[in-house]
Amino acid sequence: MWASRVLRTGRFAAPRGCRAQSALTQLRGVLEEELEAIRGAGTWKSERVITSRQGPRIHVDGVSGGILNFCANNYLGLSSHPEVIQAGLQALEEFGAGLSSTRFICGTQSIHKDLEAKIARFHQREDAILYPSCFDANAGLFEALLTPQDAVLSDELNHASIIDGIRLCKAYKYRYRHLDMADLEAKLKEAQQYRLRLVATDGAFSMDGDIAPLQEICRLASRYGALVFVDECHATGFLGATGRGTDELLGVMDQVTIINSTLGKALGGASGGYTTGPGPLVSLLRQRARPYLFSNSLPPAVVGCASKALDLLMESNAIVQSMAAKTQRFRRKMEAAGFTILGANHPICPVMLGDARLASCMADDMLKRGIFVIGFSYPVVPKGKARIRVQISAVHSEEDIDRCVEAFVEVGRLHGALP
Ligand code: PLP
Repeated sequence: MWASRVLRTGRFAAPRGCRAQSALTQLRGVLEEELEAIRGAGTWKSERVITSRQGPRIHVDGVSGGILNFCANNYLGLSSHPEVIQAGLQALEEFGAGLSSTRFICGTQSIHKDLEAKIARFHQREDAILYPSCFDANAGLFEALLTPQDAVLSDELNHASIIDGIRLCKAYKYRYRHLDMADLEAKLKEAQQYRLRLVATDGAFSMDGDIAPLQEICRLASRYGALVFVDECHATGFLGATGRGTDELLGVMDQVTIINSTLGKALGGASGGYTTGPGPLVSLLRQRARPYLFSNSLPPAVVGCASKALDLLMESNAIVQSMAAKTQRFRRKMEAAGFTILGANHPICPVMLGDARLASCMADDMLKRGIFVIGFSYPVVPKGKARIRVQISAVHSEEDIDRCVEAFVEVGRLHGALP
């Protein structure tokens, strides 16, 4: 019997209004305690309010004048690209604001099917399925595919949405040390008894800007009969010669079985995610993936924007090359100035500072100089490894990059982070 029924019929039940009042008072107490604990731990996240479009120059509430933005995932600068906006407006006009329905009831329009076909073509895979976000794609995949007869082997630093997605499935779970191929191999050996073995990794890791060793992962997967899944949120559109992602960068496009990625970063930045891979897998996801089955279709404007972003990428890789050149410029100049930058030539450039307070104070002083960057510290990154994460975009000019480096040097000297 439900506890609430026991209370309702009990001799000491308080009058309805009082009970609701006291439950609310109790809730407020619990919430205040939780919030205080977050403040006390120094992990409170506050949000700056942007009053303009996303782009290299933005306006932020409470800050006078425009500021240079170095902390968006707008890698290719397509979030405010005129052709992307125009395509969104056209889709809005032609197909309406939204579908008021899930895909399988009456929420599939021709543009959803076209975008899925385009995504599959872009990644050179058999088929693709759209989700409201990549968080949803990660939440849907593992539970729909894997059973207790299967095993999943996941890099310990995988994104939270992969971790949550794996939690939802009933497969046996192995966690291998970050990028540690000896550990992955040991776990693959242990996992031989299972029906399917799926290795799951981010392509590029967003805190360190480091890249999964996909050649080695694919070699081990082939040796031990495993499948490879890669989350390409921080790679799709800009890693590899034509922006196909980490698998293109490392020459293993034909060996990665499943890709999940986002439309909410390089591909226009609106929202949406997808899985692309073998046709029967996509068919199964349409039948079983809960975030697909039980959530609304992507709005037409979002579909229009992403579709145009992919067109731009497939027409030319000039934007990809421009972003790569600017990334190199920033990394080279910062290292020459004496800073340590983690990662492998990725536009995520973690400027390592170590101390949490130093990272936070330097980020504040950068903003005073018109540069928007964010400091990351424990528990988002390990203790003693605080950093300011800078993200480069194709639409930063060389002058923007140089201004950012100059501000870092000035602020770094001020705070003793540089000699
Ligand atoms: N996977 C990775 C590696 C991410 O960085 C993110 C977003 O931060 C996601 C998944 C979720 O993507 P989305 O914003 O489309 O839900």
